[in-house]
Amino acid sequence: MRVHVVDHPLVAHKLTVLRDGSTDSPTFRRLADELVTLLAYEATRTVRVEPHDVVTPVAPTTGVRLSDPKPLVVPILRAGLGMLDGMTRLVPTAEVGFLGMIRDETTLQASTYANRLPDDLSGRQVFLLDPMLATGGTLAAAITFAFDRGATDVIAICLLAAPEGIAAVEAAFGPDAPVTVVVAGMDERLNENGYIVPGLGDAGDRLYGVV
Ligand code: URA
Repeated sequence: MRVHVVDHPLVAHKLTVLRDGSTDSPTFRRLADELVTLLAYEATRTVRVEPHDVVTPVAPTTGVRLSDPKPLVVPILRAGLGMLDGMTRLVPTAEVGFLGMIRDETTLQASTYANRLPDDLSGRQVFLLDPMLATGGTLAAAITFAFDRGATDVIAICLLAAPEGIAAVEAAFGPDAPVTVVVAGMDERLNENGYIVPGLGDAGDRLYGVV
């Protein structure tokens, strides 16, 4: 498993404003969107391409285009929805599936309440969007969904991760699994409620308000 913590001053700057508890939802949404586009640039480094011939106004040349099947982008509802536009802005031809997962706040176990994914993901690269990799339960369940349907590799884009969550995902799939996590920041730990410390609070509430 590969973990890539994006080291860039703009990423660090935007993440700091997201962490600030006084940042309002509209600003939080806009910055999360911008941050995801920066992370997506890094996360798509291994996206599959194939040679493609074009004729410029001057001469023919060979470039590349995204291979088929196109990547599948899957925001994990609810908070992952706030990352979708930032991702599809960079990869507009990607297809989009949805996974609704909720964490039981007592047991911290993830369960699935909605699934709009193709049954067959053979040969596909799947990009999972989930802002907070906390206990790792939600991400592990989503990765299992993708591998059970034949996905070749999974790239998770997260805003923040806790070491406990990274360790849990690695324990679930093994160190050699074709899983990459791209994250804007690696925090210290989880607290007793399963929140990332220092973190940014409940990402869904920060994006959309408390419901
Ligand atoms: N989910 C969140 O939204 N925040 C955390 O800190 C952990 C899980």
